[in-house]
Amino acid sequence: MSWHATCLTLFPGMFPGPLGESLAGRALRDRIWRLEARDIRTHGLGRHRTVDDTPFGGGAGMVMRPDVVDAAIAEAMPEGDARPLIYLTPRGRLLDQPLVRELSAGPGVVLLCGRYEGVDQRVIEHRAMQEVSLGDFVLSGGEMAALTLLDACVRLLPGVMGAAESGVEESHSAGLLEYPHYTRPAEWQGRAVPPVLLSGHHAEVARWRRGEMEAATRERRPDLWTRHLVAREGAAA
Ligand code: SAM
Repeated sequence: MSWHATCLTLFPGMFPGPLGESLAGRALRDRIWRLEARDIRTHGLGRHRTVDDTPFGGGAGMVMRPDVVDAAIAEAMPEGDARPLIYLTPRGRLLDQPLVRELSAGPGVVLLCGRYEGVDQRVIEHRAMQEVSLGDFVLSGGEMAALTLLDACVRLLPGVMGAAESGVEESHSAGLLEYPHYTRPAEWQGRAVPPVLLSGHHAEVARWRRGEMEAATRERRPDLWTRHLVAREGAAA
């Protein structure tokens, strides 16, 4: 059974978008994963297929109606569908590599893409949705967030990345940022490649890379570095 992604959206034409290209596109054609974009508006009300209404309590913008969203979910997720239902929202927990790994190891995902001011809170609670954010910024809709989450998951599915592209040592795989990369020419614009990388000494290269990973994480992401130190101390205790 291929990994199954369903996106509930008002803009189904945004899918597969960039996921039809490169690694994810090839994997889609090879049926390693399956993508369905379902139009929430087919569950809209009345002649105009209305999906939203004004917010109780006043304020700007519109809110997606719970009954419409719930009907779209009911159709997309038949009884027994074990996939997690995720609402993409800036109010959610931040997407990170451990969550990506967890999702890609499962049967797939159902992603609810919000628009306007977002989705009525009651359907989020009624359907026990996981709320996931891409970062501390606001997008105009959940579709780009869904595409990004899917890209991160799909590249980890067995058979998607070749050995050459393997994600084993990349950023966040060990809770650290990755070391810097260099390729030919060995000298460019007066800048030389670090000599250790030309030494052919594998243990030295590995030591240098580890040092660079730690230095980059310490300098650029003190939050990750602190978490790494706590985990290291926990493992040593
Ligand atoms: N009023 C909402 C707020 O302030 O939290 C923002 C609504 S935004 C204009 C419309 C939709 O874009 C959201 O319902 C959500 O699905 C999506 N979205 C916006 N920013 C996002 C983020 N950082 N991560 C994930 N989804 C996001």
